[in-house]
Amino acid sequence: MTIIRSEVMGFCAGVQVAVRKVYAAVESGRASGRPVYTIGPLIHNEMFLEKLREEEGVKVISKPEGNPPGIAVIRAHGIPQQERDAFRDAGFELVDGTCRRVMRSQQLVSKSAAEGKQILIVGNPEHGEVKSILGEAEGYPYIYVIQGVDDFPERISLDMETIMLSQTTFSAEQYWSTADTLLHLFRGSPQNAGLEVIDTICPATTLRQEALKKLTVSTDAVLVIGGKQSANTRRLYEMVKEMGKPAWHISAGSELSSDIFEYLTIGITAGASTPEWLIDQVTEQLKKGLP
Ligand code: SF4
Repeated sequence: MTIIRSEVMGFCAGVQVAVRKVYAAVESGRASGRPVYTIGPLIHNEMFLEKLREEEGVKVISKPEGNPPGIAVIRAHGIPQQERDAFRDAGFELVDGTCRRVMRSQQLVSKSAAEGKQILIVGNPEHGEVKSILGEAEGYPYIYVIQGVDDFPERISLDMETIMLSQTTFSAEQYWSTADTLLHLFRGSPQNAGLEVIDTICPATTLRQEALKKLTVSTDAVLVIGGKQSANTRRLYEMVKEMGKPAWHISAGSELSSDIFEYLTIGITAGASTPEWLIDQVTEQLKKGLP
């Protein structure tokens, strides 16, 4: 069997930084005798979180109540300002692992709200990143989250200066088609106060998907490694299926199925929250075959 690894896979830059910050916090916690936490799961990968908990004692928490104060690391998605305040007020030291791309969106929202602009965020309202961005304009009445033109709220005013941005991991295709429709709507209105569309999409997802397309074409089947909760990993798996090639989505080597060994050339890719050691572990297991 020949194994070909995707040219781009695994941790994105934002996750790499957040992970480094957690390990630095662990050192600092050891030196000062304080517990270390992450606010929400650092990444969507159970094996990684388990390792962090068992080997380094890092606990995932969602609120300060019920936990002795210590060092709390903010994950790459960021958290709303009110949550930061709650942790600080409860005596926690915060380490900011918010990805710089998410920070840029947070700053755009806070500046635009201060300037009285209308703000449209295209994304999933339940996603941690969108919640953290919304938190920058807490109580501001002219901010809306939409997933596409279908949920364009009627209360949006075309006579207000407006900015539009997206969740960093939103589908680029969907975002730009939504932007086109809304630009058309603004420009066609006599009240048009202007819509500024800002590109906040992260290239990490697109780069992984482009590399996967190349890999899929040159292999017989593709193995996708990553957490079952990770949306970007699931999307990689779906892409291979859409291209008509056999694919498996596994979160650990123990989930390898025997039918994969029927193929001569296997491609390997992994989501943006899959650690390198897990990719190596699975690759080794694939080379050795089933026990
Ligand atoms: S996917 Fe992009 S925006 Fe999100 S954490 Fe990674 S680098 Fe940052």
